Amino acid sequence: MAYIDIVPVGEVEETVLLFLQQSIFQTFNIQTRIRNRHFDPSLTYDPARDQYNSSGLLLDLINDIPPETLKVLGVTELDLFIPIFTFLFGEAQLNGIGALVSTHRLHNQFYGISEDKRLLESRLLKESIHELGHTFGLIHCFTLTCVMKSSTYVEEIDQKSIHFCRSCEQEVLHWRNGKNSSSR
Ligand SMILES: [Zn+2]
Ligand SMILES: [Zn+2]
Repeated sequence: MAYIDIVPVGEVEETVLLFLQQSIFQTFNIQTRIRNRHFDPSLTYDPARDQYNSSGLLLDLINDIPPETLKVLGVTELDLFIPIFTFLFGEAQLNGIGALVSTHRLHNQFYGISEDKRLLESRLLKESIHELGHTFGLIHCFTLTCVMKSSTYVEEIDQKSIHFCRSCEQEVLHWRNGKNSSSR
């Protein structure tokens, strides 16, 4: 049995993890499970930015992968950055095993608007599917509604759907059938 592991990095609400576990299974039709593991995010903390280095956390995340794990999705409340970007909603290894998403800037509250749990979950699911899509070899898509469209702002996340366009969906299927001819 191969799994997509959902791994909390720091404190993450249980209901959010369970929501992801069920929804990601429905999208990829691959078994999902929540796997708890110790993290020390302080090693990736940048005090000048008051943020956490995404690439460092991603490396830590893929450090000890069980043999039955197909893909691993780290989920965190921490605010992520990489040196060339002010912030990140998530990061993934193209055609690799690991992906990481942050809820930090997906909360309405972050923008001074009243919290909306369903909207938060919808945004998180889109970004989770998007980052996992990269691990299946998908690059950014220009189809407006495709979940693989890149998003810089939450408004752009809200504009796209939780679904792959036909072309991206085909690529995921090819990958799963072992016919992956690397990237486009
Ligand atoms: Zn992307
Ligand atoms: Zn697409």
